[in-house]
Amino acid sequence: MAGPEDCKMERNITRDSSKAIAFVKEQSTRNLEAENAKLRGWVNDLQSGMYINCVYCGHRYGPKDEVPTTMADILKKHIEQCPKHPMSDLKTENAKLREAMEAGLEKLASMLRPWKRGSRKRENDK
Ligand SMILES: [Zn+2]
Repeated sequence: MAGPEDCKMERNITRDSSKAIAFVKEQSTRNLEAENAKLRGWVNDLQSGMYINCVYCGHRYGPKDEVPTTMADILKKHIEQCPKHPMSDLKTENAKLREAMEAGLEKLASMLRPWKRGSRKRENDK
């Protein structure tokens, strides 16, 4: 027969097993993060001894450029300013859209200005 002591024991077992599962998950995550960092370092080491070219414009980096960073980081920086990377078209389009939006907002504000002044006057007349 299950008494109050059995229920208490069952609750404790459930609580303890949840803690154990959380502990194991945390350990696994830490192990995977450590392994990931180790492998990323390995990739950086391997890439440091080779040439890397931009696939869009052919610009070449390495091996062992004077820049104290990884080849992956060098390539990321290049992509941001590469004239042939699709991102540069998007940047140009983004700038044009921003300009058009700001011009539109300014025009809208100038259209609303007289109306706002008028409503203030109306409020002062009361
Ligand atoms: Zn490029």
